Amino acid sequence: MPTQRMYCHCSICQLVYDGPYSDFMLANAKTVSVNPVSKIHYNRYKKPLALDRGVCTECQKPAMGFLQIVPGVRLAFIPAYTLNGHKDIPEPSRHIWYHSRAADIEDDLPKIEGKMRSNMACLGPFYKGFRGKL
Ligand SMILES: [Zn+2]
Repeated sequence: MPTQRMYCHCSICQLVYDGPYSDFMLANAKTVSVNPVSKIHYNRYKKPLALDRGVCTECQKPAMGFLQIVPGVRLAFIPAYTLNGHKDIPEPSRHIWYHSRAADIEDDLPKIEGKMRSNMACLGPFYKGFRGKL
């Protein structure tokens, strides 16, 4: 089960998720398997991260994303709705790319602005976690 969950307000998430922000979870891609019969089309957008974003070709919803952060280490970006109702789903911990938000959000979560800070808030825990294993 992923441990990191957050909201991303970047313009690509707004486009792919067809909403003001994405709600997603992060996990080591090695712990995730995608059913081979899934009809997912992957697309790579330039900014903010060269993430392979998979969208279901039937319902057009985001299904899965992958990002290689260092050689041999890939992260899986899992839309939170895909685990709706699962008892162990983590709570969202922060907002990233908040500077490109479509609207202000009224909650107590940290709101990270700026490209570098947002990327570190997203990926930092994984760099730390993998450092000793490379
Ligand atoms: Zn985003």
